[in-house]
Amino acid sequence: MTPFVVPADARSWIEVAPDSDFPIQNLPFAVAVHKGRGEGMVCAIGDFALDLPVLMEAGLLDEEEFPWLDGFFGLDKDSLSALRKRIFDLLVDSSSELKDNAKLRKTAILDRKSLVLTVPIPPTSFIDFYSGIEHASNVGKMFRPDMAPLLPNYRHLPVGYNGRSSSVVASETKIIRPKGQTKGADDEMPTYGPTKEMDFELEMGFYIAEGNEMGKRINCKAAEEHILGMVIVNDWSARDIQRWEYQPLGPFLSKSFATSVSPWLVTMDALEPFRIEGMEQDPEVLPHLRRQGQQHFDIALEVYLNGEKICESNTKHLYWSMSQQIAHQTSNGTPIEFGDLYASGTISGPEPGSYGSMLELTWRGAKPLDLAGGGSRTFLEDGDVLTMSAFAQGLGFRIGFGECSGEIVPAVN
Ligand code: MN
Repeated sequence: MTPFVVPADARSWIEVAPDSDFPIQNLPFAVAVHKGRGEGMVCAIGDFALDLPVLMEAGLLDEEEFPWLDGFFGLDKDSLSALRKRIFDLLVDSSSELKDNAKLRKTAILDRKSLVLTVPIPPTSFIDFYSGIEHASNVGKMFRPDMAPLLPNYRHLPVGYNGRSSSVVASETKIIRPKGQTKGADDEMPTYGPTKEMDFELEMGFYIAEGNEMGKRINCKAAEEHILGMVIVNDWSARDIQRWEYQPLGPFLSKSFATSVSPWLVTMDALEPFRIEGMEQDPEVLPHLRRQGQQHFDIALEVYLNGEKICESNTKHLYWSMSQQIAHQTSNGTPIEFGDLYASGTISGPEPGSYGSMLELTWRGAKPLDLAGGGSRTFLEDGDVLTMSAFAQGLGFRIGFGECSGEIVPAVN
């Protein structure tokens, strides 16, 4: 299906500020928890959100065409595209169906700030890659100073691991400082206790729309048809636990205590105008992983610690595209399925101000980060609030993702 791209000059009859994340060109979806009536899908427009089940009850959305509006389950890519097109038709400034129905507007248009939003789709699987080449190089320099920063496989396949989905949580969920085993001094016994090196990882993620049959792989070109939309991901990490559980860096208990995702699923249709070639791949990769056209995206990323900006990066620093990640994951015939969540790996840029983790920003704690508001940090402290935002900047509009935020709270028992 051809992507539904909203023209840059289109305007909605609901007023939207020029720097809003949610103009009519975006129209992302989320799942809201409503008091007394369960969960339902909402679509963001400016400071507001449309309550989709209410629009359906009023007959403005076709029940046969869109039967699932309590959540994303069972929704394929084409249906989501059709739903977004229908919402555009209701919101574009020349339309009157909803605009002129004052009574319906009162119940169907919600104040976005009043919403309680969940994880868009509770993931069936969580997969985390390592596709940010600057991050991988920095980690290599820190932990393997005597060797080339990248391992020999890095430019030949997107390194990743199958993670844990039960601890994927919605933005604004409090993050309990994890406990774990860490190395003892010299040859002493390891100790068990709260992590002293609590970190974040700036990542972007995407959900799988439709899977493959076991034994059949998905090639790079076809992979695009399997991407439902994108979210921001914070892959919280405990570096001291991570260093001890596996060398050079393990991805087991040091990661599985929590992963936060932003609530708004931004569709690939909305991101279509922001496709880019991506960085050159040298040496050329094997044929089954070769990119087909512009399969990367230009999305600006920001990280705030207690409200102060500490990092500016961009998805253009990813060496491997989402399509290549899918092609690689299925290259052994493993089935992927609706609701699988894939994360990119930490997205650092080449400059220190663009590093996507405390590990890199403070160079493993050696260069503490001075905060304008007073104090400094090597890693995150209890009470710290870490917030990520992302947006693709168009001419006169931006396709934003909203925020992915979490506060660190003390370890328990
Ligand atoms: Mn990660």
